[in-house]
Amino acid sequence: MEDTVLVVNCGSSSLKLALFNNQHRKLLSALAERLGQNDAFAHIDGQEGTIPLDAGAGHDQALDTLVTAFRDLGLMTTAPSAIGHRVVHGGETFHEAVLIDGDVLKAIESCAGLAPLHNPVNLSGIRATLAQFPGVPQTAVFDTAFHQTLPRRAFLYALPEAWYRDWGVRRYGFHGTSHAFMAAETARLLGKTPATTSVISAHLGNGCSITAIRDGISVDTSMGLTPLEGLVMGTRSGDVDPGLFDFLSGKGFAADEVHRILNQESGLLGLSGQTNDMRSLCELADHGHEPSQTAIDVFCFRLARYIGAMMASLSHLDALVFTGGIGENSARIRAETINHLKLMGFELSPDLNNHHGEFSDGRIESPDSRFPVLVIPTNEELVIAREASRLAGSVAPA
Ligand code: AMP
Repeated sequence: MEDTVLVVNCGSSSLKLALFNNQHRKLLSALAERLGQNDAFAHIDGQEGTIPLDAGAGHDQALDTLVTAFRDLGLMTTAPSAIGHRVVHGGETFHEAVLIDGDVLKAIESCAGLAPLHNPVNLSGIRATLAQFPGVPQTAVFDTAFHQTLPRRAFLYALPEAWYRDWGVRRYGFHGTSHAFMAAETARLLGKTPATTSVISAHLGNGCSITAIRDGISVDTSMGLTPLEGLVMGTRSGDVDPGLFDFLSGKGFAADEVHRILNQESGLLGLSGQTNDMRSLCELADHGHEPSQTAIDVFCFRLARYIGAMMASLSHLDALVFTGGIGENSARIRAETINHLKLMGFELSPDLNNHHGEFSDGRIESPDSRFPVLVIPTNEELVIAREASRLAGSVAPA
């Protein structure tokens, strides 16, 4: 029976599972949604229909139901040989993926104050899999770990220093697994080694962030203490003037209400008043809906500004890379963004850009561009699967 690796990704109300074989080929994936609500359900890719879950079902019940369904369908005949978990916040404790033990669980718990919406659900996914698969080595892969190489000048806010010392108030950065994958894939596609490759990596999905990677190492990134800072996102504002909080408190807003609006009702959704979905926004803009075009304009301009800002951390640039649902699929967003960067010498080939670079090893720049520009599909699950099997391989058999 071949070894398999299970990848577990818990969101606040969702659970994603992916099973890989020992060649790291994905065998199956499944998703449970609306956990904690009355209409929770699960779905296995390639299977018809959905699997209802009990009202209010949590991550543990969803895991239980999906694993039972995998077994009943003959899709998982033995326990996986390794399990990898996405964990959002590793604070300053975790610089790389680690095998999970009691101390690691406590440390993830102690980072929960920095990610109250994420780390507790990540922990419940880990606890559920520990109960379901006792004895299988489990690995935590942190969104923040890749950015632990940020220099002080990039991670410190200009705030009272005691806030950093006593409470850990600093920039951590997120999407690290995706940015690390981008760095490695860019090096491979350019025929270089990661340690000699410098990249600006733009991860543009529902959440968006951009990272400067110098010789394989993260040296600046747009997300900060939380994943709210930086670029315009689907529902998140990205950067705003901190003076906004005082202004809004004068208007009668409580801090938690402002927090909710900045996270859930801002970004593309707030600007367009219609949707957080970039594909729908492009269609609306094509039909003359001006607020949707404005949302696209603000998104692209902020992104272009950040690409310029990331240059300050690099001594040379091997490539600008786009990834995530928007970065991989929207030629229009890539073109509108690069259009702002002519002075820096970026130029796209409209032909290659429209074909997502699929005929040119991901490259979409024109021959006159000063820097290569690439489109690379991200694969965070694959990185987690690789890390989980690498670390499981270091465990002595019982
Ligand atoms: P992700 O979070 O990486 O799955 O990315 C989701 C975002 O990608 C959503 O805003 C989608 O509308 C966007 N997206 C996916 N395909 C396209 C496309 N062809 N054009 C524009 N946006 C797209």
